[in-house]
Amino acid sequence: MVLAAELRLTHLGNAGMLVECGSRAAIVDGLFREGVRGHERIPEALREKIESAAPPFDRIEVILATHSHADHFDAAAVARHLEANPRARFAGVPEMASLLPAGRAEAITRPAARTFGPFEVTFQDLPHQRPVRTVVENTLHVIRACGQTVAFTGDAGQELSLYARAPKVDILVAPYWFVTSPQGRAVVEQVFQAKDVWAVHGNTTAEEWVPKVKQAYPQAKIGVAAQDRR
Ligand SMILES: [Zn+2]
Repeated sequence: MVLAAELRLTHLGNAGMLVECGSRAAIVDGLFREGVRGHERIPEALREKIESAAPPFDRIEVILATHSHADHFDAAAVARHLEANPRARFAGVPEMASLLPAGRAEAITRPAARTFGPFEVTFQDLPHQRPVRTVVENTLHVIRACGQTVAFTGDAGQELSLYARAPKVDILVAPYWFVTSPQGRAVVEQVFQAKDVWAVHGNTTAEEWVPKVKQAYPQAKIGVAAQDRR
């Protein structure tokens, strides 16, 4: 009997996640460096493994980023991974793809659907929350692989009207304020209706935000990274 491979998610830091299906992987918002002051970063030793494509990051087929802010994307970090991992490609809006080596990055005009190994990925425009320091295009990614679907909102606004085309999914990865605010909760419960919800994107200390999530939405999976001393 052959068991179907399971979709596995691993939190890396801030909104960064590794998605594994069988022996293949995708990474979303997991190749960044400095981040934003006060926000969670990827611990230094882990970041080094990701950028240098050390196992299991040598299995990455596709690199995705919901938007170009420094706590989600860094062109030099992506380029270093592409150099170390010949199988990997980047796919994203032209603003990011144009910063990467030609031939290794696909500029995506949304809406779009692409397949990378076992990962079927859709790209939809989903506006960034306001106010925002710099105007940026934010993308809703839905990945189907290993018989499951997982959505990544990026730093999207929480107005229900933005989600008219968003699908129901099995797993949702969203900033933690989607489960702690009434507006965000409506998106989680009425739009995505996921059985697993990952609360990520620590924009303050874990001591401050994690208890709020545990109280508001006890069933959430909490993505919090051990932080290096700064
Ligand atoms: Zn962010």
